[in-house]
Amino acid sequence: MRFVMLARNPQLYSHVRLCEAARARGHSIDVVNTLHVHMNITSNQPLLRYNGRRLPIYDAVIPRIGASITHYGLAVLRQFEMQGVYPLNESVAIGRSRDKLRALQLLAREGIGLPVTAFAHGPRHAEDVIKEVGGVPVVIKLLEGTQGMGVILAETEGSAKSIIEAFSAANVNIMVQEFIREANGSDIRALVIGGKVVAATKRIGRPGEFRSNLHRGGTAVQIELTNEERSIASRAATALGLNVSGVDMVRSSHGPLVMEVNSSPGLEGIEGATGIDIASQIIDFLEQNASYGKTETKGV
Ligand code: ADP
Ligand code: GLU
Repeated sequence: MRFVMLARNPQLYSHVRLCEAARARGHSIDVVNTLHVHMNITSNQPLLRYNGRRLPIYDAVIPRIGASITHYGLAVLRQFEMQGVYPLNESVAIGRSRDKLRALQLLAREGIGLPVTAFAHGPRHAEDVIKEVGGVPVVIKLLEGTQGMGVILAETEGSAKSIIEAFSAANVNIMVQEFIREANGSDIRALVIGGKVVAATKRIGRPGEFRSNLHRGGTAVQIELTNEERSIASRAATALGLNVSGVDMVRSSHGPLVMEVNSSPGLEGIEGATGIDIASQIIDFLEQNASYGKTETKGV
């Protein structure tokens, strides 16, 4: 098959692994810098050009669109979809997962356990929002944050209020969440492909750090999920319509709670901790599912 991967940095571990896995199975794969693709969106023949050259029609597109270029990246991905090219994760599903509030709303509608989360515009409602999630301590999150940056723990009412007010003054969107203390600075990452959990790790934050992100110095070890955790991870991926995703959960005293669903999960931490060849399983999924004109809107 002929694949194209949308990625800005071909050197990243995940991108190298996906290329290796595709080529090892006899496929071709072009890596295209998302920001260097340009297109005429009004033509009735949706073409894409890359550095002035017309791109061929591929069998599948693997989007690895960084959070900072979501808007343009999704426009490029949609143009491939217009051509009938099969997306590993479709644009609508990636859009849902990138909008943290939208994602939580969809998961809540499916009855999936989530930390109590509130959202408001402006500082006037700071006190009410804190009350809404059960009072301090609370976790305050920038909606555009990623890799644990922009996730703040506020232990006192005073600090929670001043953080909310500061962000509001800067016109930054935030959400306020109950703090799951029992998570103890650790979370679970389940890698879901085609609705099935294929690997799982527990990520443990650095001592004194409530965020377990590997980018924040956390470490990952392989774990066995409970049946309930497997089922929740799979339901969360399905609710957003993602074929491949990393579902982050915390173990709370009232069961597993989903934190977020990542549409371009990094492979380094999880392949390293589990020894599972996830890249090949992703290519395998494309072999089984990719076909011309099969783009459809899934999820709820
Ligand atoms: P990002 O998208 O930036 O990774 P997350 O929302 O996943 O942000 O938060 C980063 C980490 O912080 C989580 O993996 C978890 O370890 C910790 N964390 C986030 N929210 C909470 C919470 N409400 N209670 C306890 N720990 C949390
Ligand atoms: N870098 C990837 C993204 O922001 C995800 C990293 C991770 O797996 O947490 O989409």
